[in-house]
Formats: sequence, structure tokens, C-alpha cells
Amino acid sequence: MNISDKISDISFSDTRLFIGGEWEEGTGADITSIFPADGSINCVLKGASVADGERAIKRAKAAQSDPAWRNLLPHQRARYLYAIADGIEKNADRISKIQTLDTGKTLTETRALALSAAATFRYFGAVLETSDDELTAQRGEYLTYSLHEPLGLVAAITPWNSPIASDAQKVAPALAAGNAVLLKPASWTPLVSLELARIIEASGLPKGLFSVLPGAGREIGNLLVEHPDIAKVSFTGGTSTGRALAVKAAQKLMPVSLELGGKSPTIVFEDADIDLSIAGLLFGIFSSTGQSCIAGSRLFVQKSIYKEFVEKLVTATNKLVVGHPFDPATQVSTLVHPDHRQSVADYVEMARADGGLILCGGEAPTGDIYDKGAFYLPTIIAGVTNDARICREEVFGPVLVVMPFEDEADVIAMGNDNEYGLACGLWSPDFAKCWRVARAINSGTVWINTYKQFSISTPFGGEKDSGMGREKGRNGIKAYMAQKSIYQDISGKLHPWAKVHNS
Ligand code: NAD
Repeated sequence: MNISDKISDISFSDTRLFIGGEWEEGTGADITSIFPADGSINCVLKGASVADGERAIKRAKAAQSDPAWRNLLPHQRARYLYAIADGIEKNADRISKIQTLDTGKTLTETRALALSAAATFRYFGAVLETSDDELTAQRGEYLTYSLHEPLGLVAAITPWNSPIASDAQKVAPALAAGNAVLLKPASWTPLVSLELARIIEASGLPKGLFSVLPGAGREIGNLLVEHPDIAKVSFTGGTSTGRALAVKAAQKLMPVSLELGGKSPTIVFEDADIDLSIAGLLFGIFSSTGQSCIAGSRLFVQKSIYKEFVEKLVTATNKLVVGHPFDPATQVSTLVHPDHRQSVADYVEMARADGGLILCGGEAPTGDIYDKGAFYLPTIIAGVTNDARICREEVFGPVLVVMPFEDEADVIAMGNDNEYGLACGLWSPDFAKCWRVARAINSGTVWINTYKQFSISTPFGGEKDSGMGREKGRNGIKAYMAQKSIYQDISGKLHPWAKVHNS
């Protein structure tokens, strides 16, 4: 495979940021984007400083309150979302390469993410056009309307693991709702969000309504959270960052949506189809190299089939192709950054020190293409209990812990015994049993005989330390709107309390 051929059409010579509709060099600290498969530098750009952020906010405020935007009817606003969707689709190949270079994800995956981002813009355009406001039940000689209006300025703060998809999940509904959006991508992966800015600019969206401000969380992220003109922050990222941000938001009484971490249980019952469940759970934990908030990272297997199942699982895991992200045969690619690989490796060493048995993986592969990249082998750990740190904390890498369970009650208790509550996978042909367990598990999403299946029309979010609020679905757009009630008299009568005719 000639890799340089595959990327010869991509250059990162333009290092400007998109600040309130203008392409300008940032004045913040340097951001270095690397291709983690070989450590080469994609580009170095200057991130957004507080001054850049303030300029973007000022321009966003002017653009959002301009009647040219504010008075657009829903079907007129929807046209921008359709144009953005078309632009993403048209540039899917380019977006996919940029995102692979920035994150190390396989081209197969980044292409799917680009197409899902296009679908997200199209979906929210359609939701916008087909959402009705309400005339509420009449209770007197007046009419009451319940309307939804834009909040104003929305900050979208996103992580590095699936930038184009998590950007779209916030930017599409927030723009559809009539807001201006200031997007702050993670410092490790600024490039695809800047590409999204080019597509949004080409859609003709009025200048100022959209900004991309890569930069340090503590600086530009903090500005967006604390600034009085920002009406909402929609955040996806780690739980500790989300918690700190929510405290600041509370001081401003500002609404926040938080999509946070996970340590999701996957449960294989003794009556499960073994091949079906192994295929599904391998995808659930090892695709995206485990860098997925919904990764099924805690596996519970019923005792009666535990030994046979785990043997087959380890054999199948050892056959996964760990390789270069541009190679279509690759199933497990590099991690996003060498520092992140170190953090994954540290977790595995900690589990080993705690008595964990490494059934496969447990180290970085060596030789060939591996030495320069941030690769780590798919790893399965047994011999630990549900209270071990490796079972409680999010590793965010290709690391699965496996534990046996006795029965339904036992596994519900263990599944729920964790700070997180993002997702859960159940494997059994017994519908009634799956239904009972699905209802008993505290998580925002449950997959039955499938995993990591996603639909933009289905709400997504977490319970407990996995966050609050829901994205996607028809109501996803309402999360970026303020509700207003209007009362209108239809009697034409004087109010009796005022006694106007007696005076
Ligand atoms: P992170 O919390 O370190 O960073 C997320 C974003 O917040 C980045 O843009 C970062 O720059 C910014 N940030 C950091 N400090 C900030 C501050 N003080 N104020 C404002 N913004 C700040 O997370 P990460 O390492 O980029 O991403 C991995 C995490 O994201 C994992 O925990 C993963 O589970 C979570 N995640 C959750 C979902 C979900 O939908 N629930 C999806 C993807 C990723």
C-alpha cells in the first residue's frame, strides 16, 4: 500500500482559525496535530486565545440578533442545514482522510462518521421544518401559545475521539434552533472541525453565526463557559471536566448538556448464540481502538458457559487485524496520541499489579509499522472483581475486563454497581429476560443482541456520572431553545378587578 498516494491531496498549509466568520490566525498557544500512526506532524497552528474568543462572541452576538437570521422562517433556515449536509457528503472523502490523519481512526470508520454527520444536518433540517408549536388547551376567554425560540449563543465543546460526528450532533440542532454556535474542538484533533467550518461557510450561512476555536480547555473552553453572553454549553468529554464545567454553569444559572464517560456492561447469558455475541462484543469494545464512550468495557459471562466462551473470545481477539488506519483490512488502529497510549498501558499495568490475569494483549505491538505509532494490542483481563479500579474507571482504549456471574439478579446488581450509566449490551434470545434486565439496568442506552448501533432519530445520553440531557431525536433541537408562552385575550372585555366603569 502506498500511503503517501492516499493523502497526497491533503495539505494543512492553511493554519487559520474560523473566528466569527473570518479566517484569522489564532493568537493563543501552539497546537500540534500529529498523525498518530507514525508520529509525523500534520501541522502546527496557533490556538484561539481569550481575545480571539471574545472577538468571536462579539461577532456571533451581532449575527444572531440580526433580523436577517432571527426572522428566517423554519423552512428557510432548514435550507442551510441541507446545504451543509450536501457539502459534507460531497467532501466525505476529504473529511475522512483529514480525520484519519488527525485521530488515527481507520478510513472505513472516518468515512462512516462523515456520512453520519451529513445525515445529522439533514435530519435536523427536516425536524426544523416539521416541528409544530402548540396552541395549548383553552381555559378561558384567551388563547395560549407555547412557542420555542433560540437561546442565543451556544458553545459546543467536543472531545477528540469522533470529532466530525460529535461536532455535528451539537452544531446541527443548535443552528437549526436559530442560535449562533461557537465550537471548541479538542486540542489533539482541531483539523476536521476547521474543515467543517469551510463547508459551513460555503453553505452561505451568514457570517458570524459559526466559529471554530481550537485551544486549551482551561483558557478558551473556560471563557466560553463563563462568558455572560453564552446562553448554553453543550459538552462532550470526560466526567471530571464535565463536572467542573457544570459547577461554573450553575453559578451563571446556565443550562448545560453533558455527554460524559462510561464503563458499560455487556452481559452474555448462557442461552446466547456464542458466535453472534462474540462478533457483537468484539465490535463493541475493540472498534475505534476502544476509544468510545459507549465501549462495552465490562463483560459479564454466565458461569455455566464462562470457560468455553472466554476461550473462544480470546481466540477471536487474537485474530483481529491491528494495522495502519489507511489499510482497509485494519480492524484495530492506532490510539489517538502516544500520551494516551501511555495512559492505557498504565491502566493495564495497574490491573496486573492488582492480580489481573492478562489473557491476551497487554502490550504495544512491535516491529513493522508499529514502532513509530501509538498502537496497543486488544487486551482482555480476567481474575479481577467488579470493585477493582480496572472495572470502575474508564480506560478509553482496547481493554476489556471479563467476569463470571451466577444469575439475572446477580448480574443486574454488578452491572449497576458502577458510577457510570451510559450503555449496556445484552446477549440472549430470551426476549422477556432481556426486557427485564434492560429495564433494571441504569443506563441511557441498552442494546439487545447488537451493540454500538446508532440512529440520529433515537435520543442518546447518560445516567449517573455519564451525564445529563439527551442529544439526537426530534426533541434534540428543543435542547437549544427557550420556551415562551403567549396569552392573547379574545373577549375584548374590561378586566372586572379594575372596576373602570365605577370610577
Ligand atoms: P476532556 O474532558 O479532556 O476534553 C473534552 C473537551 O473539553 C476538549 O475540547 C477539552 O479541550 C475541553 N476542556 C478541557 N478542560 C476544559 C475546561 N476547564 N473548560 C472547558 N472545556 C474544557 O475529554 P477528552 O479526553 O477530549 O475525551 C474523552 C472523554 O470524552 C471520555 O471520557 C469519553 O467517554 C468522553 N466522551 C463521551 C461521549 C458521550 O457521548 N457520552 C462521546 C465521546 C467521548
